[in-house]
Amino acid sequence: MAGIYIHIPFCRKACHYCDFHFSTGLGAMEDMGLAICNELYQRKNFLADTSVSTIYFGGGTPSLLPKPILYRILETIGRHFLVEKNTEISFEANPDDITKEKLKEWMDVGINRLSIGIQSFQEDDLAWMNRAHTADQSLQSINRVNEIGFTNYSIDLIYGSPALTDSGWEENLAFVVQHDIKHLSAYALTVEPRTALAKQIQQQKIADVDPDKQAKHFSMLCSWASLHNYSHYEISNLAKEGYRSNHNANYWKGLPYLGVGPSAHSFDGKNRGWNISNNALYIQAQKNNQVIYEEEKLTDTQRANEYIMTSLRTMEGLDLAHIQGLMGETAVSMILKSAQKAIDNGVLQKEHNTLTLTQAGKFLADGIASDLFL
Ligand code: SF4
Repeated sequence: MAGIYIHIPFCRKACHYCDFHFSTGLGAMEDMGLAICNELYQRKNFLADTSVSTIYFGGGTPSLLPKPILYRILETIGRHFLVEKNTEISFEANPDDITKEKLKEWMDVGINRLSIGIQSFQEDDLAWMNRAHTADQSLQSINRVNEIGFTNYSIDLIYGSPALTDSGWEENLAFVVQHDIKHLSAYALTVEPRTALAKQIQQQKIADVDPDKQAKHFSMLCSWASLHNYSHYEISNLAKEGYRSNHNANYWKGLPYLGVGPSAHSFDGKNRGWNISNNALYIQAQKNNQVIYEEEKLTDTQRANEYIMTSLRTMEGLDLAHIQGLMGETAVSMILKSAQKAIDNGVLQKEHNTLTLTQAGKFLADGIASDLFL
């Protein structure tokens, strides 16, 4: 099993916190579509020995894509890859693009899962983030998705921003329940270097992120999830039974994936690579049938550390048998030795051959994982 990720590097407006690769110049959309199809063709052997069970359109803003380009990309995948019958095809969409016509188009071409970039239902919070949509558009988009009959969809929410109050966060979570939304991706606002947000904080134009508020919002999220029966299956992902994201789950399991489009990352099971993060150079290279791609050969230790980082974030946790298979018994002993302090502090627990984070440990996941690195 494998996945294909397609990066659509265009956005209507630059959100202040965002460090993904995108351009607000939408003129090259057609050329980009052709370049992506060309890359799919050039790299058709990347997943030669395995079938494709998930396809994910991310960005950027895939919902800006005109239907003919979207259709052509999916048709190219179908022609050159072994796509399984019930493949999960996820598509990121922003509320301001979600009309009934577009929803029908996406269903027509085979999209069967939406990931909607709501981020917040609070007007002040959206303006603070410089989102392109209003709170009203957020709500309308959910209503339209429900009316058209897309049942498998997720929304993204961001918590812990200076503009989001505790009651605003509570209200955002209440909307999820009221609208019977089956999957939620909830992220703590992160200040990435070189973003407009980092610059504004540095210039003291806006308040910095308050870690205590973020911890409080995360704790509210955890209580909300258990009260309303959402499985908190990964630190940032919560779902009702049967609605987990297969694409993301496959990343965490270490399955291979092909990433196509500028800045997209790929993993063949052993090595990781990434495409150039420049739209014009990417398109030009594809016109010359080249892929501008850098590769990093991962050592067994790097692969084990990646597994520690991703598995600890999941509900299933870190399987020590997997480490033993990859690195041997000594590595398992080293991890258990490093884990003892976190276990004593009540942020990590060991059950049979598995290490999982406790509720208190979930907010400290990255730090705990790095203490276990080999
Ligand atoms: S819409 Fe998404 S990708 Fe585009 S700038 Fe905003 S957060 Fe970044």
